[in-house]
Amino acid sequence: MSRPKLTILLASPRGFCAGVERAIEIVEQALMQNGPPVYVRHEIVHNRHVVDDLRAKGAVFVEELDEVPEDALVVFSAHGVPKAVPAEARRRRLLYADATCPLVSKVHRGVEQHHRNGRTVLLIGHAGHPEVVGTMGQLPRGAVILVETVEQAERVAVPDPERVAYATQTTLSLRETEGVVAALKRRFPALAGPRREDICYATTNRQRAVEAIAPAADLTLIIGAPNSSNSVRLVEVARAAGCPRAALVQCAASMDWGLLEGAGTVAISAGASAPESLVDELIEACRERFAIEVREVRVVKEDVSFRTPPIPLRQAS
Ligand code: SF4
Repeated sequence: MSRPKLTILLASPRGFCAGVERAIEIVEQALMQNGPPVYVRHEIVHNRHVVDDLRAKGAVFVEELDEVPEDALVVFSAHGVPKAVPAEARRRRLLYADATCPLVSKVHRGVEQHHRNGRTVLLIGHAGHPEVVGTMGQLPRGAVILVETVEQAERVAVPDPERVAYATQTTLSLRETEGVVAALKRRFPALAGPRREDICYATTNRQRAVEAIAPAADLTLIIGAPNSSNSVRLVEVARAAGCPRAALVQCAASMDWGLLEGAGTVAISAGASAPESLVDELIEACRERFAIEVREVRVVKEDVSFRTPPIPLRQAS
């Protein structure tokens, strides 16, 4: 029996960003230099396959520093950490490597600068996301106010409306963030902030690539984890761009093939923490079921990379 036809529109850029590649490299270098175990505070990036792979090489993932034994080496995740975390590591004389993405560190420096200039910082982001926790933790409690929605932007109260600044999580939806920033600018004409939002190049490019292909597809599949902010945003972007159906898929093995029923064209992309191997596996799984034609649609070429910092060496015992 001949297989049904399926056109796959493959977004480019997709998948790993420079910050994720750097974070993984830091853990791998730490393991190579020091041997296992290397402790990692939080998932280094939000992807189970990446975490499992590093775990198999000897990384031990913990939630908090009190789970890290004395004289161990610990790596902080790409999302960034509150200032209290490295301070606590130093107090306990732990060796640590900071895998915070340089673009997140830039946001940290920005909020510190606004605070020094006497401004209240309004942080646009999602409550509880590790990046938001890390950014809020750069300043004393109360100095940063989280704004999640346009409604909150319309209501938020600040001590001095003349001295207000904003910053954003790096992985937000461009469209939604514009609405929140516009509401804040209307209420606080003196609002200071970055020239554009802090949404990073990788988030921007992946959203633009999905916007380019989703309208022509019956279904959009985004490979990524449910706790990966940028992956979840890509699903929202596909829907907002007019794709009738969009779903997050963790990997080919967890694919609900019923989603593809009646679909002639499917758009595929991957969040910034999803390895390319997961994209390859999904395409191969499609090939087993359909006569596929793959068309890659590239909206921009990326050539961003970040250098890894020196990794501390544990003393031989
Ligand atoms: S998504 Fe952007 S900010 Fe986050 S790690 Fe990647 S490059 Fe850095």
